[in-house]
Amino acid sequence: MKYCAGVDIGGTTIKIGMIDSDGALVAKWEIPTRKGENGLLFMKDIADEIKRFVEEKDDMTMEDLIGVGMGMPGPVLPDGYMEVCVNLDVHELYPARLLSELLGGIKTALANDANVAALGEMWQGAGKGQDSICMVTLGTGVGGGIVNEGRIVSGMHGAGGEIGHMCVEPGETEVCNCGGHGCLEQYASATGIVRVAKRKLASSDRPSRMRDVADLSAKDVCDLAKEGDELALESLRYSMDRLAFILSHIALASDPQMFVIGGGVSKAGTFLTDMISEEMKKYQGIVPMDRYDVALATLGNNAGIYGAARLVMPEEAAEA
Ligand SMILES: [Zn+2]
Repeated sequence: MKYCAGVDIGGTTIKIGMIDSDGALVAKWEIPTRKGENGLLFMKDIADEIKRFVEEKDDMTMEDLIGVGMGMPGPVLPDGYMEVCVNLDVHELYPARLLSELLGGIKTALANDANVAALGEMWQGAGKGQDSICMVTLGTGVGGGIVNEGRIVSGMHGAGGEIGHMCVEPGETEVCNCGGHGCLEQYASATGIVRVAKRKLASSDRPSRMRDVADLSAKDVCDLAKEGDELALESLRYSMDRLAFILSHIALASDPQMFVIGGGVSKAGTFLTDMISEEMKKYQGIVPMDRYDVALATLGNNAGIYGAARLVMPEEAAEA
């Protein structure tokens, strides 16, 4: 049996997974992210962890390891260069090249973490059996990834698939984390959903149970909307409308087979995906918007591991 390692590098923890050539996740573990020395510390940790795993596994040698794929938060250029990765305190680095050196020249690859999650969902998650999907992760921010015919669309500057920062309200006065105004993230992320709901409450005297919640969360808004609270429903529908507006444009730009919704907010389930589908129908496309499935992500936090491993998996094995 041959294996690929998938490494999902976040600001506080690094998730490492070993995936066999049948696509099964055979082991998964986490280590803390040791920042410093421009990424060298955590890269050494990753290399050591992989070597240790191979040593401890009776029926495996380094020869059985096809390669190691990685996902990192930040723009990745086509040649693997990262100008800056703020969360990991990394500047002007070729991370995949560095990891390959630390592991004796093994095959390595790197892509943006949200893009890698989209690839994982396409390969072994909600998009299994398809090769062109668009994934949107509704978490603290809005992450996005477009996979077209099995390949991540990361673009020439690494900005491909950055759906969260597409502008949906040019007149917005509050500033987004990126410095822009009116980004999708300001409306459809967990924090965005709460922001929209609070604005809605402030602009109306109508009763809502949202007024009784001390520290309103996106989950509260979704739960109350499900229970039929009118203001919660209107507010959430507006947030999802802004998302649907963007998805209808992506349908015209890359025309994926389906949209996959992940992240903490997606725990609201089919209530949320049904709402997004419904809102999408308001927008005219070249083909009717109801031809695009809007599905819930299925791999959860493992999507990044699967997608990272898929980066180095040979085509014939990946299709098996
Ligand atoms: Zn933004």
